[in-house]
Amino acid sequence: MWRIVHAGITACVMAVVMSALSSPAAGATTTIKAGRLVDGFGRVIPNAVIVIDNDRITSVGSAPAPAGAEVIDLSRYTVIPGMIDAHTHMTYFWDPASGGRPLGQPRRPAGVTTVLAADNARRTLEAGVTTVRDLGASNEIDYAMRDLINMGRMVGPRMFVAGQGLSAGRGGGPNPDLFRQQAEARIAAGSDWVKIFGSRGSFQSVETTQTVTFDEMKAAVDAAHARNHRVAIHSYGPSGVKDAVRAGADSVEHGIDLDDDTLADMVKRGTVWVPTIDHNRYYVDAKDEYGFAPEAIPALQAYIEKNLESARRAVKAGVKIAMGSDAVFSMFGQNTRELSWFVKAGMTPAQALAAATTIPAALLDREHELGAIAAGYLADIVAVDGDPLTDVNVLIQKVRWVMKGGAVVVDHTRTR
Ligand SMILES: [Zn+2]
Repeated sequence: MWRIVHAGITACVMAVVMSALSSPAAGATTTIKAGRLVDGFGRVIPNAVIVIDNDRITSVGSAPAPAGAEVIDLSRYTVIPGMIDAHTHMTYFWDPASGGRPLGQPRRPAGVTTVLAADNARRTLEAGVTTVRDLGASNEIDYAMRDLINMGRMVGPRMFVAGQGLSAGRGGGPNPDLFRQQAEARIAAGSDWVKIFGSRGSFQSVETTQTVTFDEMKAAVDAAHARNHRVAIHSYGPSGVKDAVRAGADSVEHGIDLDDDTLADMVKRGTVWVPTIDHNRYYVDAKDEYGFAPEAIPALQAYIEKNLESARRAVKAGVKIAMGSDAVFSMFGQNTRELSWFVKAGMTPAQALAAATTIPAALLDREHELGAIAAGYLADIVAVDGDPLTDVNVLIQKVRWVMKGGAVVVDHTRTR
């Protein structure tokens, strides 16, 4: 039978995850033998051999493994690049056993939440997601998680974070200069991205009212771009999406009823759309956990339909679309379910995989080291059981093994 040879792998997943806390030994060379490799650019290599030095891939091909290298045998699996979730809220932690609800939890010190939220990070890795863009957190807990993960002191996907999102002030009218100042302040404090809440709408509310003006969006976008940082704008309704695109947002989050002009403008500018269709499915499924009123459910379902309809039109128009779960609380682990909506919207499974790899890698300005399995890239590799190019569910339900930056962080190859 097939067998895995890898120091530190044990049948106990927890032990594997804990061993990932120590980074790979300096000078360590690892070779992966994969039954099939799907590289992120749509290329397929049967019986692939991937050579990894520390945290990077040094070669991909079908040559025999170099002598003396440690060999990981994944010959019964297909390997794909580590997936990227372009929209999470990793710091939103909730323990179902607490007896309370996800919203309105008692206040905790930021340090306590940081440690607890490591559970969200672990569940995200289990889904085959090795990188996230985290779009909104309080008390700099996202900075703390990002830094601890980068230091090897917390196990989780690598995080690009926004800190506290910018919102419209109460009263006083539009104030573009305040948005400029706030964008600059977030970047100075340590945000990789600037997040703007351009409309209402969150949790059980699907209210589409725009709250931030075009001039305010533009002021924040220009300030961020001047400092080489990128901007994501949340808008539940079409006017906010239109203004976000015109203002030069790098990505637009959520959205329904997008008109043809907006879709054409997104194609022309290369704006990435992160529709987050699945997060409202999650709210419907988790309504009892949240204690949502029954009246909220039809509105969530209607929003899903419109969200999907706009996605269909965006796929046809050739808009760049990225997988973003908008995961909070008990949604971690379901990060990739968005991909099944993308196939419903008309993508092929290969296009859906690109929406979780190459497209978000470019959105993050990391297209030369993330989102693909190729020489020079970080060794973020996921083994799935089945063919992800014929069945998108393989990406969602059949993740068996995950490597992040050369370290094995999930291993179910022996238990199934
Ligand atoms: Zn969000």
